[in-house]
Amino acid sequence: MSDCIFCKIVNREIDTELIYEDSKIIAFNDISPVAPVHILVIPKEHFPTIEDAKDSDILSHLFSKVVEIAKMKNLEDYRLIINKGEKAGQTVFHLHIHIIGKRDLKWPPG
Ligand code: 5GP
Ligand code: ZN
Repeated sequence: MSDCIFCKIVNREIDTELIYEDSKIIAFNDISPVAPVHILVIPKEHFPTIEDAKDSDILSHLFSKVVEIAKMKNLEDYRLIINKGEKAGQTVFHLHIHIIGKRDLKWPPG
């Protein structure tokens, strides 16, 4: 996808420091972090949303690497977020998992 910002990161058209890379995925820091640790883990292949990837092996690979990356970053506790669709807050339509850590998470409320 030529106009996809995350495909540009995958293709090294935008210079981004990678935290992890293998043949199927990359991980890098979010450009506007909401917590001291805010990493995005994405497939190299362009899937606009998680729905588009539901039948692909990529999901299990992404999740097992997410756990490894969190360990690598010494995160004991962390939150994972996938936004699906505009109304849920998805702004970049290239599947990504947010790893959010080292922040006091007010959840569940109350
Ligand atoms: P979404 O809202 O789609 O779940 O998350 C998209 C995330 O991508 C946002 O947290 C935003 O800060 C991040 N982001 C958008 N453009 C770039 C970029 O060019 N580089 C990096 N590193 N992060 C980006
Ligand atoms: Zn893309």
